Amino acid sequence: MNVKDFITCLFPRTVDYRLSYGGVKRHGRPLTLTFSVTNLCQSRCRTCNIWQIYKWWPEQRHNELSLEEIEKIFRSIGRIYFFNISGGEPFLRKDLPEIVELACRHLRPRILHTPTNAIQPKVIEQQMRRIMETMRRLRLEVPFTIKPSYDGVGVMHDEVRGVKGNWNRLVDTIIRLKRLAVEFPNLHVEVGTVISNMNKAHLEDIEDIGHAMRVGSYRNEIAEQRTEFYNIGDPITPSGEEYADLIRSFSRKIWENIGTKGRLTRLTEALRIVYYDIAARIVKEKRQVIPCYAGISNVHLTPTGDLWPCCVLGYDKPMGNLRDVGYDFDKVWHSQQAQDVRRGIRNRQCACPLANQSYNNILIHYPSLMKAILLALRGLMKKPGLKVDSAMRLSEKPRRPESYITAEVIRQVEQVARAGSRQEDVDEATAS
Ligand code: SF4
Repeated sequence: MNVKDFITCLFPRTVDYRLSYGGVKRHGRPLTLTFSVTNLCQSRCRTCNIWQIYKWWPEQRHNELSLEEIEKIFRSIGRIYFFNISGGEPFLRKDLPEIVELACRHLRPRILHTPTNAIQPKVIEQQMRRIMETMRRLRLEVPFTIKPSYDGVGVMHDEVRGVKGNWNRLVDTIIRLKRLAVEFPNLHVEVGTVISNMNKAHLEDIEDIGHAMRVGSYRNEIAEQRTEFYNIGDPITPSGEEYADLIRSFSRKIWENIGTKGRLTRLTEALRIVYYDIAARIVKEKRQVIPCYAGISNVHLTPTGDLWPCCVLGYDKPMGNLRDVGYDFDKVWHSQQAQDVRRGIRNRQCACPLANQSYNNILIHYPSLMKAILLALRGLMKKPGLKVDSAMRLSEKPRRPESYITAEVIRQVEQVARAGSRQEDVDEATAS
């Protein structure tokens, strides 16, 4: 997001959403479309059961939207701002580059994002190359962020995500993506951790390694129970008090590292600190501490054409299915069912810290937005971070005996940190 976009596009939309939330005007188009392109996934995460869906209902596997259907839907939605790809594992859809091309043509997003489980480094690199080439060809070189999931250090990552060797593939994936980002400067590589009861005791190691990788941004989210994940009632979410402690630690680390980030990233990091603060209050107080605009500013499209206000309410509160209405977005968006779902949200019948929804809620809630702007200004004044050799810092830090940070992990992280950097070029030239 840049300042011009904010003034010309985002801010007017926030006014619009406030008016429609208050019932003063009809609902306009959402700012963010999240599209779960598939429910297929090779991970076996202990925090999510999406990978079981086609085991439970095998007939559903061939019921996912085709490219033709997706084009009709995108054309009907029109322009949005954030195009957020989700899954399952998005790269298991072989036509992912074509889906992104359709999004670029019809939705004209200003920011695109996808997560990945980083299990197939080569496929991910190849598909991302095709995507970035397509965006270049279409002259839509807006930021595309990719976030490989990183839920633990070394073998711990494999344990949490249920796939042996996943850590090594994660390292390989990030290295490939960082090198690709040299060719395509609008590609931004991040890593993200879901903090759950399975890995919370190792948060310090996880964060140290996350920041040492020298990726564009390192994000944390708390494991949530969502109908989308079929994990309601699973003991994965840390308690309110633990959550508040973790959040304080996330914010402190972000602030410590903000000097090492580019100017634009410092702005988004400030937004993230405000988000963490609000998220901690939501979990502790179990209420919407600022209004939620799910189903107004954001909408979630499932692999089979359902529209949800958010993935937390998901299967419990669908707004309708686009296949049932000839792929006409307006027919679902302005339906009685959608209005009923929005009324429940406005009456604060639910509360959660869902990250991508919360960021839009902050933009629309002006006191929180002002807080983020002031923090960003302070962040911009922070001196750039010193270029310290990250692996050196890691190896010098005292570790608990149960730490997963081994000498091999430090070597790998050093390799990740250097990937795509001038230092890597120097190393290569020296070696040859
Ligand atoms: S508060 Fe959470 S569960 Fe409720 S609508 Fe907003 S994002 Fe969905």
